[in-house]
Amino acid sequence: MTQPFETVNVLGFDFINTTQTNFIEQLKQDCLNHQNRFIVTANPEIVLAAKNDAHYAQIIQTADYLTADGIGIVKGAKILGTPLPERVTGYDTMMALLAWCHEQHKKVFFVGAKPQVIQAVKAKIKTEYPGIAIAGAFDGYFKDDQPIVQAIAQSQPDFVFCALGFPKQEYFINKNRTVASAIWMGVGGAFDVLAGTAKRAPKWWIDHHVEWLYRLLKEPSRFGRMLALPKYLLLVYQSKFNH
Ligand code: UDP
Repeated sequence: MTQPFETVNVLGFDFINTTQTNFIEQLKQDCLNHQNRFIVTANPEIVLAAKNDAHYAQIIQTADYLTADGIGIVKGAKILGTPLPERVTGYDTMMALLAWCHEQHKKVFFVGAKPQVIQAVKAKIKTEYPGIAIAGAFDGYFKDDQPIVQAIAQSQPDFVFCALGFPKQEYFINKNRTVASAIWMGVGGAFDVLAGTAKRAPKWWIDHHVEWLYRLLKEPSRFGRMLALPKYLLLVYQSKFNH
């Protein structure tokens, strides 16, 4: 596809240089034009994982749009002297698109999260976004993806939201995206927030760029994962001084 956005390279990955609002508008247009799109919303942890895994890196590079989901990506771009305007998150993108899908009566397929969470997601869509046609809703703890893929192929949804966590969601989309000309997006833990089983950080934390700290305080078990951040920053500074 021809990339409608300029990009900013951070550690070998090209992030779209746009705002949250403009990105959502682009996706609406893509949907109206029946385009097949693969969206990766990345944070430093994903970049670091891709740095250590050539296959995963290659998949991320095939995404049509790579967005700076984590504040660490926005900071990294700034350090490198090629700033990005703001975060473009999977959660905010999904929520805006759900509102639009409700108005436009679009077909949406949901894959991911625990069985009780996906049930709650379904119930929430039915009550709060009744204009959406739920093309399918499967939890993310499957052994065989074929029944899900067949359901997507049969229902031909406009959007496929995959909340399988990384790297599983990117592998799933990369492998299966040809079965439907849809907008396929990996949304991490977004279903947990949508269902109300996890809470997103209050606005203050997001505005002060410490959403990651809020999540760490709520889920201390994420500490190991958070060590990716200093490692990532080190690579950013190395890259800055090598150029
Ligand atoms: N998950 C899943 N299948 C798996 C592993 C994880 O559906 O095999 C779900 C999990 O229930 C959660 C999401 O993937 O809803 C990952 O959440 P996490 O907070 O780790 O994602 P992040 O937003 O940090 O990428």
